[in-house]
This record gives sequence, C-alpha cells and structure tokens, in this order.
Amino acid sequence: MMESAKTKEHQRLRLRVTAAAERALRSGHPWLFAEKIREQNREGTLGELAVIYDRNDQFLAVGLFDPYSPIRVRVLHAGEPQAIDRGWWARRLELALERRTGLFDAQTTGYRWIHGESDGWPGLVLDRYESTLVLKLYTAAWLPRLEEVVDVVTQRLRPERLVLRLSRNIQAIAGKVFGKTDGQSLAGTLPDGPVIFLESGLRFEADVLRGQKTGFFLDQRENRRRVGALAEGREVLNAFSFSGGFSVYAARGAARAVSDLDISSHALAGARRNFSLNQPANAKGTCEHELVQADAFEWLSQNEQRKFDLVILDPPSLAKRQNQRANALRAYHTLASSGIEHLRPGGILLACSCSAQVTAEEFFEVVRTAASGTGRTFAELETARRPPDHPATFKEAEYLKAIYLRET
Ligand code: SAH
Repeated sequence: MMESAKTKEHQRLRLRVTAAAERALRSGHPWLFAEKIREQNREGTLGELAVIYDRNDQFLAVGLFDPYSPIRVRVLHAGEPQAIDRGWWARRLELALERRTGLFDAQTTGYRWIHGESDGWPGLVLDRYESTLVLKLYTAAWLPRLEEVVDVVTQRLRPERLVLRLSRNIQAIAGKVFGKTDGQSLAGTLPDGPVIFLESGLRFEADVLRGQKTGFFLDQRENRRRVGALAEGREVLNAFSFSGGFSVYAARGAARAVSDLDISSHALAGARRNFSLNQPANAKGTCEHELVQADAFEWLSQNEQRKFDLVILDPPSLAKRQNQRANALRAYHTLASSGIEHLRPGGILLACSCSAQVTAEEFFEVVRTAASGTGRTFAELETARRPPDHPATFKEAEYLKAIYLRET
C-alpha cells in the first residue's frame, strides 16, 4: 500500500508499549489500546502504518493507526518484519478465501468472506450476497486505504457491485474528510431494493444499503439449520426475529406455525417477504405465519397464555461494555425463564447471546440455572458457537453462543 507523501517526509511512526501489551501482541492479540503506549516518536495520522518495537528494540508488530479510537493500533502482522504492499494485501485476501473453501455449495450464496481481525483485516468485514459484495468498516483507519482495498477485492472477486457500509461511529469523519457515505457504491451500480440470495437453498432478502450489520445476520446460519431440523410438527416462537430467518427454516422443517416477534416494523416487513419468498414452505402442508410487533421482554411477560413447542430467543447484544455485564446476565436469566413459561411439555428452548462481554460458559450457566429454577427438567441437546465463516482468533471475537434445552 502506498504511503502518502506526507508520511514519507516523516520518519516511520514508531511505538513502544507496556510489558503487558507486549505480551498480548506476542500472543497474537490484535489490539493495542492507547493507554498501553509508552513512547511514540511523533503524532500519528489516521490509517498510517505504526511499527511497534519491543523492549530490546526488536520489531514486534505493525498495524493501522487510528488517533480517534481507544484501540489506537489494529495489528496487521506480528512476528518477523514484512513489507505491507499490494501483493501482501492480495495474499491476505487469498488466505481468507482459502479458509472458506468447501464450506458452501451453490445452495448458499450469502456468507462472510472476511471477518475482521480474525482474518487479518482488523475492523473490516466483507460479505457476499449472491453477486453483491458488502464492505463494512468499523474503524476509520481504512478510509485512506479504501481505494487500494477496493481494487484488490474487485480484481479478485469480480462482483457485480461493491457496497460500502460504515459503522455509526465513523460516519461523520468518513463524510467530512473522505467524502464517503454509508450505503454508497464503491463499484457497480447500487441495487434498487434488497438483494436476494440463497442460504441452504432458501431465499432471503438482504437490505445491503441500510440493514443492520451488512443486511442480514449471516452468523446465525448454523443455528437456523439446527432449528429447521428440530421444528417438525412444532409451533414456534421466534423472539427477536429480525427478518424471520429462523422461521423460514422452521417452516421448511414442517413446523405447524411460526410467530415472528420483533420491536421493529421494518424487520417484520422483511420477515413477511422472506416467508413468502419461500412458499410453499414444505411438501407436508402449510405453516401458519404470525407477525407480532412488540417489545419481546414485555410481550413474554404479558402473554403467558400463549404456548409454543419451540421458543427461540436471539436478542441483540445486551452488554456492549464491561459495566453492563451484570445487567445483561440478569436479562438473559429473565428471558430464559419467561421463554420457558411459554413452552408446552416436551418443548425446546434455544437461547442465544451475541454479547462479547459475556463468555459462553457464563451464558450457558445462566440459562441452565434459569431452566432449573422453573422446576421443570431439561436435557441439554447441545451448545453451539460461531459458524466457520466467522473465525475467532482472540477472546473478544468469540461473541456468539447458543444453548438448546429440551424438556424431558
Ligand atoms: N434472529 C435474527 C437476528 C436477531 S437481531 C436472525 O436470525 O436474523 C436482534 C433483533 O432484535 C433485531 O431485529 C431488533 O429489531 C430486535 N429487537 C431489539 N430489541 C428488541 C426488543 N426489546 N423486543 C423485540 N425485539 C427487539
């Protein structure tokens, strides 16, 4: 990647860090927090390469500098020094593609090509929806390098279009300094509506221009497949349904009825369309479909008479920060208990968590405790983590977990 003329005039940005940060970087952790920097030879500019040295003045790592983020450097490479040039980026993309070899057949055309730090592209996500690619940035450090990234990606993957998405915290700087807006095209023409893609042979819409994440929750694919396999003959409550992914699988799996429950009318409109995109859902007959717009916490506590044979709880992250952990654990407990109150005898509960601040074991324990607190007896069918196109090479990337309980 070309360094700007301004950076070349300067010396390389060189950092020295605390002993603890040195250990973390050496063990492969990809973030250097601002307060862990002990020495810095000059001010750094957004997106330039920062070289981190150890106590013996040996090269430790190189990464993208971000003066606006508490995560001051996102590591690209640690170990032996390497030249970060165009060929290096192309190879790094190749590694991400290789990692997905054989994971998806022609029945699944929506998945993640690049999953941020864990694929060596810190703070950057690349998703495929059929012939549309969506590039989402979570750090402004990529903005000065966008042109080269786009070039490497489009040369290799030849998409019909590439859409840019920006996390909320970097939209202002992206607009003011780089003239980039959330939902703009980086290559090809924008779609005039949602993009349709396949997942396990089912058809779904992704709202790639405005939807949450990059338009769809690709990370729940494996759980949706499991739900499809568990759903036969069951009445299903899909709480926090978003665009109804779990319900479409349940209908194909011969569920009797599915109810999508979400606070967002926009999400439910998507759920209605996704459901009808896949009609008739299965060979065994029709599946009733209900849409409920409500706060799931309230609805669950106020509608005890409504009973189901499979209850899915997939709330948004309940702890974005460390100090929200205790509240999140309580909320997971409440949700699991009230989810179980809606289960008929022999029913199944699927409880999910996407809070990175809550570990898998903590979450599983909360759900198990809530289940035993109801006085009913459950068998643990399984626990699940991240899907294979969402690798996790460090603790903070292990956000997704799910537990399946069936009443015995
Ligand atoms: N299960 C979905 C993803 C869920 S994302 C899938 O497989 O695609 C979380 C969803 O929870 C979002 O659609 C959001 O609108 C919804 N949500 C957030 N707070 C809520 C609340 N209090 N009650 C109901 N839905 C809520």
